[in-house]
Amino acid sequence: MSFFVDTHTHSQFSPDSKATVRDLLLQAKRTGAGGICITDHLDLDAPRNPGLFEFSIEDQQKEIERQILEVFPDGGCKVLKGIEIGLTPENMEHSREYVAGHSFDQIIASIHFVDGEDPYYGNYYEGKDFRQAYSRVLQLVYETAKAFSDFDIIGHFDYVARYAPYEVRDIRWKDFPDEMDTLLRFLAEEGKALEINTKTYDFHGDHLQVLDENILRRFRELGGEFVTLGSDSHDSGRLCDKFEKFSQICRRCGFARLTYFENRSPVLY
Ligand SMILES: [Zn+2]
Ligand SMILES: [Zn+2]
Repeated sequence: MSFFVDTHTHSQFSPDSKATVRDLLLQAKRTGAGGICITDHLDLDAPRNPGLFEFSIEDQQKEIERQILEVFPDGGCKVLKGIEIGLTPENMEHSREYVAGHSFDQIIASIHFVDGEDPYYGNYYEGKDFRQAYSRVLQLVYETAKAFSDFDIIGHFDYVARYAPYEVRDIRWKDFPDEMDTLLRFLAEEGKALEINTKTYDFHGDHLQVLDENILRRFRELGGEFVTLGSDSHDSGRLCDKFEKFSQICRRCGFARLTYFENRSPVLY
């Protein structure tokens, strides 16, 4: 495998992950991954399961350090400490307080809940067409990211389309030029990264979601510099899944180098 850093993975500190930190590191070792960032879920005040998506950052970081010593005593893999913060307009202050006093290599800001619904469960789409459903989320991604501001990467901007019941199952730039441009321009100006979350393009059902390359091209045009690849793996088998393919897509869209974050600073590779 080429040198890749998987910037989005979940360990036993996420309630929905089957992998432990150790599993992830062993898989990184087996596959020769260049690096891995462990980004467990913090979704404070989640509407359906309050308290479920929280973890002790201290315990998680201690476990990462312990496993680095066991699995990579001589180095050889960049193992990074991260977190995926699920933001809502209501939980921003609480999220800020929760992470205060801890240091991370990388913070992903994601939207999992929209107006009290998780698109994962389907209710969110009722009474909306694809334009209304996606446009609301793109707006919310921008507004919460801008208001929160203490993050490095926007996680899966197209999460809402993963579970959508519509015929149009991809978020295409041409359908949402204003919403996309607002978000992409903000990321470019603030030096934040856009994540390509390869799990989104892994749904087999009746349609395989596709990444609209025009979004990447547009990000570049607007001055975007940083693109990260994340598998969003919840079991170790998907580590760096499809990275070869998406790195080529990045290249042809003007991103010759990919990014990961260390000590909250972008590293291009
Ligand atoms: Zn997520
Ligand atoms: Zn995730």
